[in-house]
Amino acid sequence: MINSLEGFNKMDINELMKKATIFHGHICPGVVIGVLVAKYAIENGYEHSPDEELVAIVENDNCSVDALQALLGTTFGKGNLIYRDYGKNNFTIFSRKAKKGVRLSLKSTSFDKKKVTRDEKVKLLLESNIEDIFDIEEVEYNPPPKAQIEESIVCDVCKELTMSSRIVDYHQSKMCIPCYQKFKK
Ligand SMILES: [Zn+2]
Ligand SMILES: [Zn+2]
Repeated sequence: MINSLEGFNKMDINELMKKATIFHGHICPGVVIGVLVAKYAIENGYEHSPDEELVAIVENDNCSVDALQALLGTTFGKGNLIYRDYGKNNFTIFSRKAKKGVRLSLKSTSFDKKKVTRDEKVKLLLESNIEDIFDIEEVEYNPPPKAQIEESIVCDVCKELTMSSRIVDYHQSKMCIPCYQKFKK
């Protein structure tokens, strides 16, 4: 459990919700979960990442991830958002600058079992203590490697530029994955 910096650098939750909601498109429990993860991260020394200072590993592709993209700067396009398709609401964030990592894992809350509307759930989440919503632990500093910039090669079949690591050698031709899949049938 991380209790340091209590009361220090508190982020305004309304500001964060506004920013995340503009990016995501609507207010929902998922986006609140992501906002709470981002808020915790920012308050504990994982500041917004213009480049690859932070890297986030997420285990779902639901609404919550958009809040991380909007607020932490861990984005799909920069390659510092790693998606593992485990269907879990777990969020691991590493800071390459501070050489540290933290993992937030969504717990089942008391209101999960009750029949609450989407709006009620948003309100309940925003009113809760972060420790009641997530298991939070520091993790060993072990971030995935930085995104690589690769040369592009023209696919011999469709002539489209393709990252070299995604080119398949097949019957003396260099093929992109969709062309290879068509040919090997
Ligand atoms: Zn949503
Ligand atoms: Zn092709």
